[in-house]
Amino acid sequence: MYILFIFMKTFAVERVCLDCGARLLGRSDKKFCSDQCRNNYNNRINRDQNNYVRNVHAQLRRNRKILSDLLDDGHHRIHRDALIAQGYNFTFFTHLVETREGTRWSYCFEYGFHETEEGYLELRLCSSYLEMPVEEE
Ligand SMILES: [Zn+2]
Repeated sequence: MYILFIFMKTFAVERVCLDCGARLLGRSDKKFCSDQCRNNYNNRINRDQNNYVRNVHAQLRRNRKILSDLLDDGHHRIHRDALIAQGYNFTFFTHLVETREGTRWSYCFEYGFHETEEGYLELRLCSSYLEMPVEEE
C-alpha cells in the first residue's frame, strides 16, 4: 500500500507542460503551465494542419490549371506521360464519377478525364456536379 502511494505521488509530480516542459503542479488534468503555453501549443497544431491543407490545395490547383490550359488550347486528348511531364500529379483529385455505361471519370474540380485507350486520356469540362441534388418527395 505504501509502495503504491509513492508511485502515484511520483507519477503526479512528473507531469509537465505540453508546450514548455515546465513541471505542472495542481490539478491532475492540467496540461499547460499558463494560458500563453496553451495558446502556443494550439497555434502550433493548427499551423501544421493548415500547412498540410495548403500543400494539398496547391497541388490540386496545379492539376486543375494544367487541365484547364489544355482544354483552352483545344486539346481534348492527351497521353498521361505528357500530363506528368507538365507536372500533373495523379494522386490528387477531387472526385470520381462513374457513368451508367461504366466509364470512370476522374475529376480535379470541374475538369475531368478518363482513359480511352492505352495511356491516352479524354478530357472534358463539366461543372454540373456543383448543383445540389434535389430531394424527391
Ligand atoms: Zn508551459
